[in-house]
Amino acid sequence: MTTVLIIGAGGVGQVVTHKCAQVPEVFTHIVLASRNEEKCKAIAKQIERPIKTAQVDADNLPELVALINQVKPKLVINVALPYQDLTIMDACLETGVHYLDTANYEPLDTAKFEYKWQWAYQQKFQQAGLMALLGSGFDPGATNMFTAYIAKHYFDEIHTLDIIDVNGGDHGYPFATNFNPEINIREVTAECQHWENGNFVTTPALSVKQSFTCPDDVGVYNIYRMYHEELESLTKHIPTLKKAQFWMSFGDSYLKHLEVLGNVGMTSIEPIEFQGQKIVPIQFLKQLLPEPSSLGPRTHGKTCIGCVVTGIKDGMQKTVYLYNVKDHQDCYKEVQSQAISYTTGVPAMIGAKMMLEGTWMQPGVWNMEQLDPDAFMADMNRYGLQWKVIEDPDFDLL
Ligand code: NDP
Repeated sequence: MTTVLIIGAGGVGQVVTHKCAQVPEVFTHIVLASRNEEKCKAIAKQIERPIKTAQVDADNLPELVALINQVKPKLVINVALPYQDLTIMDACLETGVHYLDTANYEPLDTAKFEYKWQWAYQQKFQQAGLMALLGSGFDPGATNMFTAYIAKHYFDEIHTLDIIDVNGGDHGYPFATNFNPEINIREVTAECQHWENGNFVTTPALSVKQSFTCPDDVGVYNIYRMYHEELESLTKHIPTLKKAQFWMSFGDSYLKHLEVLGNVGMTSIEPIEFQGQKIVPIQFLKQLLPEPSSLGPRTHGKTCIGCVVTGIKDGMQKTVYLYNVKDHQDCYKEVQSQAISYTTGVPAMIGAKMMLEGTWMQPGVWNMEQLDPDAFMADMNRYGLQWKVIEDPDFDLL
């Protein structure tokens, strides 16, 4: 009998709950908790198996500890926001429960995400005999696994990595984000960093772009170089990497709106005084934008996310591309959600399964690429995220 506690009832929380419910042999009992219990109940109603729900403020340590002690889960899956990572890790330590998340910690008042805060928990988790799995979404998450799998099965040594995240979906709105708007905009507007010869090199946000032709007729898209959190852990754990870059596609309408919103100050995280109260512009903007979890029925098209790796095998230089293509409407039919939440929620469920089944379970704080990728990759094929490999693709990347 294993109980899992899922915290966060947004787009990703909905998919994780559906996917855990599809694997009753591992997740015997599921409890979904969030700031607003009504959202948990609405998700529970979509699922045939009984899902318990609860209200919790995950910024409040005593509330979290009380809930965990009441629910007695073996594992907490944190799909609230990155701001809550450390509080939930503290609550897990206090109650003796394993931990998993999909995004690294970011302080609310500084738009800077880094692993250092969570890596600092290494000793505490080791001493408590508990495991914390960091970044078990798609990117980070599946992309770390793709890289580890390619390195293990196709190369003696890998030298360059390009992670390419194309969302060829269209939700019909002039501007909306497909995951939490505040986190999305903070990430996209951050200065770009890529890894080159042992250092991170900084360039202005979205200043380098190229065209990318996706496989399987997904289409041709402009992809923009940006910083993404898995670059920090992958370059640390795979020291043979000489260059590592992350690319994401954006439509012209998204970029035009983002530029205007930035120019007028709407993406700022600095509080301003407005009619006698303090408001944070980006938080106000979030209230105006569609919720990512509401985009499912209206999003059409496909995502195509993968890793291009070069390196040496038997003395020869080669290139390998490993990718997944997912159709937004297929996701909607299965779990009433668009593909960005789906591609995040499925690896979260699989990471949890790897822990609970014992395949990966070991004390300490772990990034995905530190763990053996084979069982995870097999489950990606089994649970809805089928992947393919192209050896020596005809790409000419910057
Ligand atoms: P949403 O905004 O849709 O959902 C977040 C949920 O967390 C909401 O239900 C929200 O409550 C709840 N929440 C926020 N603060 C608290 C709190 N203090 N206590 C309890 N619950 C809280 O975001 P997404 O579902 O799109 O994203 C969830 C996470 O997944 C984020 O951390 C995001 O960065 C990550 N992510 C990772 C990806 C990857 O590939 N690795 C890709 C996409 C997302 P309320 O509804 O009341 O606001």
